[in-house]
Amino acid sequence: MSIVVFAESSENQFKKSTFEAISYAKEIGTLMSKEVVAVNISSIANSAELGKYGASKVLNCSNTDGFTADSTSEIFASICKQIGASVVIVSNSYVGKSLAPRIAVSLNASLATNVISVPDLSNGFTVKRGVFSGKAFAFVNLNRDIKVLAITPNSFEINANGSDCATESVSVNASPSKISINAINKVTGKIPLTEAELVVSAGRGMKGPENWHMIEELADLIGAATACSKPVSDMGWRPHSEHVGQTGITIKPNLYIAIGISGAIQHLAGVSSSKTIVAINKDPEAPFFKSADYGIVGDAFEILPKLIHALKN
Ligand SMILES: Cc1cc2nc3c(=O)[nH]c(=O)nc-3n(C[C@H](O)[C@H](O)[C@H](O)COP(=O)(O)OP(=O)(O)OC[C@H]3O[C@@H](n4cnc5c(N)ncnc54)[C@H](O)[C@@H]3O)c2cc1C
Repeated sequence: MSIVVFAESSENQFKKSTFEAISYAKEIGTLMSKEVVAVNISSIANSAELGKYGASKVLNCSNTDGFTADSTSEIFASICKQIGASVVIVSNSYVGKSLAPRIAVSLNASLATNVISVPDLSNGFTVKRGVFSGKAFAFVNLNRDIKVLAITPNSFEINANGSDCATESVSVNASPSKISINAINKVTGKIPLTEAELVVSAGRGMKGPENWHMIEELADLIGAATACSKPVSDMGWRPHSEHVGQTGITIKPNLYIAIGISGAIQHLAGVSSSKTIVAINKDPEAPFFKSADYGIVGDAFEILPKLIHALKN
């Protein structure tokens, strides 16, 4: 019986969340005395590097049809059954969240999403989950033989103390996907929001899309990704891929700079786990100041040029 990790990738590269998931799996593997097997369903050829993060072996399975939730989960579940998975780990990303319930049904397993702790094995198998948009925690005991965990990105340290591991090719005949993808609009040339250590985010206080050059300049200067509040993406000022919050992406960067964002609970739900929050708002009563580590009360249109000038110098 093994701990099996889905090695998520994008653009022919493993994602940072995959390294977190394998490092996390290694911790569980040590607690349960089980080996960690990573499953790479992509065209990435060099997967041995996953050994550095704690995988004992990588199973490569090429999927020429690309990712679709139904066929990829069928392939992944079949591999999990073949190798006798006892714990299956995915990242709580869009991809992982689309796989986890399907895998749990196929394996007749217990499922926990949004997992933010290593399991407590002292009385069964208990994990801590974030619930109600991160406003509360639930401790969930998983009592089926097989457990599927979707772990929250940026919640676990990456541990790269190992070395390259063995790889093996496997093939699985999956049914044709029932999902057809007509187009993929990719954000190019930018730091992916979910992977970013630094994020510069802005809201309706920026007045209009024509003022976003300041947000982008500040982000470029410090090597940050850009994000926005929901109304900003709803109005088409910024792409939906930048929308953070309860109905958008959940992020946990080291630094989150919020400019002209009020700090509504739905927004905070996606960003409040950031390590350091800086809020810039002209309203001293803005709710964001209650959650921020540092606050600057003032007009963004005066503060941003000064900040950019100072950083350039
Ligand atoms: C079911 C539901 C789900 C939702 N999900 C999300 C979500 O996922 N993400 C999200 O963001 N929202 C979400 N919302 C919306 C949320 O409730 C807020 O309406 C939204 O976050 C407000 O966006 P904002 O802060 O950009 O705009 P506003 O509320 O209009 O705030 C603008 C802020 O900018 C400040 N400001 C104005 N001018 C300046 C200036 N010149 N300089 C500095 N500061 C200035 C103002 O003082 C104000 O605080 C959701 C709402 C619901 C009901």
